[in-house]
Amino acid sequence: MNPGPSKVELNDQTDVGSYFVATYPPFSVWSAEAVDRDARPALASTADGSVPLGVYLHIPFCRKRCHFCYFRVYTDKNAQEVQQYLDVLAREWELYAQQKAVAGRRVDFVYFGGGTPSFLSTQQLQSLAARLSAVASWRDAEEVTFECEPGTLTETKLAAIRNLGVTRLSLGIENFDDRILELNGRAHRSPEIGQAFRYARSLAFPQINIDLIAGMLGETEENWRDCIRKTLALEPDSVTIYQMELPYNTTISKDLLRGTKVFAEPVVNWATKRRWVGEAFEALERAGYHVRSAYTAVRDPSRTKFLYTDRLWQGADMVGLGVASFGHVNGVHMQNADTWESYSAAVGRGDLPLNRAYRPTHDERMIRELVLQLKLGSVRPSYFRNKYGVDLLDRFRDELASLSREGSLQEASNERIALTREGLLRVDVLLPRFFHPEHVGIRYT
Ligand code: SF4
Repeated sequence: MNPGPSKVELNDQTDVGSYFVATYPPFSVWSAEAVDRDARPALASTADGSVPLGVYLHIPFCRKRCHFCYFRVYTDKNAQEVQQYLDVLAREWELYAQQKAVAGRRVDFVYFGGGTPSFLSTQQLQSLAARLSAVASWRDAEEVTFECEPGTLTETKLAAIRNLGVTRLSLGIENFDDRILELNGRAHRSPEIGQAFRYARSLAFPQINIDLIAGMLGETEENWRDCIRKTLALEPDSVTIYQMELPYNTTISKDLLRGTKVFAEPVVNWATKRRWVGEAFEALERAGYHVRSAYTAVRDPSRTKFLYTDRLWQGADMVGLGVASFGHVNGVHMQNADTWESYSAAVGRGDLPLNRAYRPTHDERMIRELVLQLKLGSVRPSYFRNKYGVDLLDRFRDELASLSREGSLQEASNERIALTREGLLRVDVLLPRFFHPEHVGIRYT
């Protein structure tokens, strides 16, 4: 294993490049050849029915493209094109439901992500939900998450979203200050935040989550404290805070790489972003919240769960529907075609629109679970012993020692391996040391 420092550790500036670890091995080693060799046979074979199954739906529309966005989104599609996309999405789910690895399995969790799922009209949402659930119902799903942009929500639309069986409404607030929202290209403004939140509360969603980003362009100490105060005043059930990063395909990254200097305001360094998230967590803890991962605090852990991440981080299956979506079924990682045209054309031919795939080895699956579960702040060695027959303390002796030297490790015992708060706040930087040597220092996506 290579315990060498990553780029972020060597240089604390927010440079262009990927920081967030979403899976393992890195996407860059997934290949087109593995689609026919591994993904299609995996889908055509019976899967282990005891493994939970989720469905992710990518709704790739937004009112505006945020300057820090790195997702496949469209801001120029008309109502007819949106409807065509939804038809393709429904057809794709029909194709998946015919695969042996998926057919007849209960859907345990559903995630409407994007893009902006709340960009869809009430009527589009209702007809999409009716078509999807006619193929396989998600009424028994334990969790249905729906991402929203505050400026797209009306009371009627929110009521329709609640009627879809949504259990967690995730409000992409990101920041409460209009100047910062404007500087970063966000579509919504502060008056829409309070209004959307009040509507959502009145409809009694079981969980309302607020998303914030630490370190948006133009962020200041004073404004960040104000964002924390305003978040606490709303009393959300959970708060998710990401640290601003600059993957290659964001508008800000392109500006930095070309030296065009359109964006005069810098993104603060990683130490400042970590401190801001740390201060937010402390304020939330003083208000009675519990930090449950590197990104999330919840008010009542006994009733507020994040099954989507928990299940995925424990190796659940997930069908990824939509352009450029990611999935994992029956032991194989897979990603859909990443352009509108190629995605729609494949589904139109009656093909699963897969673009690249990767079958992780037993050891790579173990590493994937380890690095993802470390984002919760601690892992149980007994879980890995029982599931993978590996002794983490022995296998990763050098890596754990390096974490300890850096002040990132709180405990490494047979009971648990736990990170310090400082380690948790920089967890994504710490994880590559657990990767196989050939996966360290390579392009992530
Ligand atoms: S709302 Fe989200 S998906 Fe849409 S452009 Fe902004 S960051 Fe990207």
